[in-house]
Amino acid sequence: AQFERIEEVEDKVKSYVTLNKEGALKKARELDEVIGRGEELGDLTGIPIAIKDNICTKGIRTTCSSRILENFIPPYNATVVEKLEKANTVMIGKTNLDEFAMGSSTENSAFFPTHNPWDLERVPGGSSGGSAAAVASGEAVISLGSDTGGSIRQPAAFCGIVGMKPTYGFVSRYGLVAFASSLDQIGPFTRDVTDCALVMNYLAGHDDRDSTSALKEPEDFTKALVADVKGLNIGVPKEYFGEGIDTEIINKINECIKLLVKLGADAEEVSMPHTEAALPAYYIIAPAEASSNLARYDGVRYGYRAENTRGLLDMYNTTRSEGFGPEVKRRIMLGTYALSSGYYDAYYLKAQKVRTLIKDDFDRAFSKYDVLISPTTPTTAFKLGENVDNPLAMYMSDICTVPINLAGVPAISIPVGFDSNGLPIGLQIIGKHFAEATILRVAYTLE
Ligand code: GLN
Repeated sequence: AQFERIEEVEDKVKSYVTLNKEGALKKARELDEVIGRGEELGDLTGIPIAIKDNICTKGIRTTCSSRILENFIPPYNATVVEKLEKANTVMIGKTNLDEFAMGSSTENSAFFPTHNPWDLERVPGGSSGGSAAAVASGEAVISLGSDTGGSIRQPAAFCGIVGMKPTYGFVSRYGLVAFASSLDQIGPFTRDVTDCALVMNYLAGHDDRDSTSALKEPEDFTKALVADVKGLNIGVPKEYFGEGIDTEIINKINECIKLLVKLGADAEEVSMPHTEAALPAYYIIAPAEASSNLARYDGVRYGYRAENTRGLLDMYNTTRSEGFGPEVKRRIMLGTYALSSGYYDAYYLKAQKVRTLIKDDFDRAFSKYDVLISPTTPTTAFKLGENVDNPLAMYMSDICTVPINLAGVPAISIPVGFDSNGLPIGLQIIGKHFAEATILRVAYTLE
């Protein structure tokens, strides 16, 4: 049934880079047999899942939607893939993304753009646009994305589904192709909050193979699925409701906050004074880390290698010139510049200091509030092509999501209605480090 649905809509939506039809059907038949014998299996058994194509899958092409990894077949599974495999899910395919997860619309994919299932002329968001579109269009039940500066929450908002970025270090990054290692986190896309809690039960937990993995006991997130916010303290960060945020979105988020107050929560405005510095700090730190992480694609070890080159340096240069797309090159240049001697203190070091100030804003807010609520995005889904020639306009799309990655705290985006064009609006709930359960409780109440 899942592949029939894909057959029906994939031509229009284009969520997938690679389909795993044979492997998925084989796994489904095996599971059928086990179930036929009456064995008890877990609650995700047989559920079709899609995986963002920057998460390694053993024996299945993992491209990062880049020419440089177009034919790369990993010899190992990411920890999250292993975990979902053990949970008896069925992996349907690998989803499209902005090349190396750099972007906010999935138009930076080297292969093709993905379309928003709600309006095919609009973007699904990014960088995990394929994963979001797949769940929104019924081409998968659950999918995984990665979120470095909003890449799960922003596409979830644009596609009208649930997307969660867990606390930094809560879900293993082993096998996730690194973009900006101090910000990257894997998380789920689901149709509702209950599914999100179920998947988080399998994803979270310590992994020895990821040196930044937290030593945190796993918990049962389904216990958080209670519609009760009595006595909860909600902070409403006023900088997230300022200039550039659509009034229709602001009105919808305020309605939701009023509803929570009616249900017994307390809400009050709070100031996060360093918010406006988050985007500039992010666009120094993320490219700096990316320029270092992407140095490994040199045509020698793995991935694409240019042909007919003269000598080693020419081989490096031609391989990277041909293998990387324009946005990736822009990030490498920005990052290399920010890290170079003479500029390091003025840019990279300064950005790291700003990052600390942003984290302090969150610490201060969370000494008083249980959660913060804001819009996920400044606008609803924009048109394909609308922002491609204007990187700064594209970067603005993450203004409400980027600060969360800089602070390392968890956040969810849930769908809360539609604008006057019939496009989904996302509401963001931000929590303290490892307060995923509280976030899920508020999300469940609003759902
Ligand atoms: N859109 C942001 C960027 O281009 C965030 C991407 C992400 O979270 N992977 O860097």
